[in-house]
Amino acid sequence: MNTATDVSRGIEDLRESLGSDLTIAAHYYVSHEVKRWADEIGDSLQLARLAAEDSSAHHLVFCGVLFMGETAAILSGTQRNVYLPRADAGCPLADSATIDGVLSAWDGLDHRDRFLPITYVNSSAEIKAFCGERGGATCTSSSARQVFEAVEESGKRVFFMPDENLGHNTAVEMGIPEEEISRFNPDTLEFEGAGPGDARILLWGGSCPVHVEFSPEDVRAARNRGLRVAAHPECRRQVCAVSDEVGSTDHMVDVVSAGRNESWAIGSEINLVDYLQRQNPRRHIESLGAARACEDMHRITAMDLLATLESIASGDAVPVRVPTAIAEPARIALDRMLSIVEGRGLTP
Ligand code: SF4
Repeated sequence: MNTATDVSRGIEDLRESLGSDLTIAAHYYVSHEVKRWADEIGDSLQLARLAAEDSSAHHLVFCGVLFMGETAAILSGTQRNVYLPRADAGCPLADSATIDGVLSAWDGLDHRDRFLPITYVNSSAEIKAFCGERGGATCTSSSARQVFEAVEESGKRVFFMPDENLGHNTAVEMGIPEEEISRFNPDTLEFEGAGPGDARILLWGGSCPVHVEFSPEDVRAARNRGLRVAAHPECRRQVCAVSDEVGSTDHMVDVVSAGRNESWAIGSEINLVDYLQRQNPRRHIESLGAARACEDMHRITAMDLLATLESIASGDAVPVRVPTAIAEPARIALDRMLSIVEGRGLTP
């Protein structure tokens, strides 16, 4: 069996021999033993932008879950191949919105010409394609509000999937009253709350199993211990409502690093908490309540990264492939998000 030293040496050697033909990207939620090898560490929006950039590197190893690899492959087009160290690392939130379920909700929607479908990037390529084909877009947690506002400015309303909490938190931040928010229950295939005809926003009822576990009691307990609380908008509304800061992973990295010697409780994935502590060694940073790991992100090891680099070097690696019929409309949805974020508005 390879020791940790053998694995490190193997990764080092292969990075050197692949040289500028290789980029390793890692999401904040993968473990430090993997992130330490990354050329780029980021959240979904940062890594999507990286994939969309021109690059001389023909190989992009993406240490993240399936929807991230698909997104990177779609945005990379033909300029590079994207590889995932673990093909079995998925996302239960993304899986909660199947194309059949979404079609059933959409087709059964009265007044659906009033709505544009918007999907969180934490969704399959098929769902992104569904949105792209219908004038909709993707969004990330850091761009959700901008995308929702662009939809409203175009005179339409948002049908958002699959993360109910991100949609709910963003809607409240925009001043949308609770009585104008409708939820689609993917189990019963029915709308709850405001009827879709009266709703200003429709939310698919999915959630992230990691972030949904944090509670308002966790926030109170952290406050009683003198900690400030930063929560990801995938946390429940009741948690975000009482937190000091609510924002994307990138936002949390910024606020925690900018604060003056403050102690923080972080309502997000444990590997992000670990990253923040390593970046800010003089500050006290801990998980909000019990430490919570994303099982799928956690599955990716340095050994998997080494195996991926070995297969690239030997020419046996299998890149992520998204069929053109899905990739093209999915790319339109992703490009619309990038256009909004870059100030060019919701393109047709
Ligand atoms: S943290 Fe949640 S949303 Fe992110 S990959 Fe894991 S299960 Fe999916």
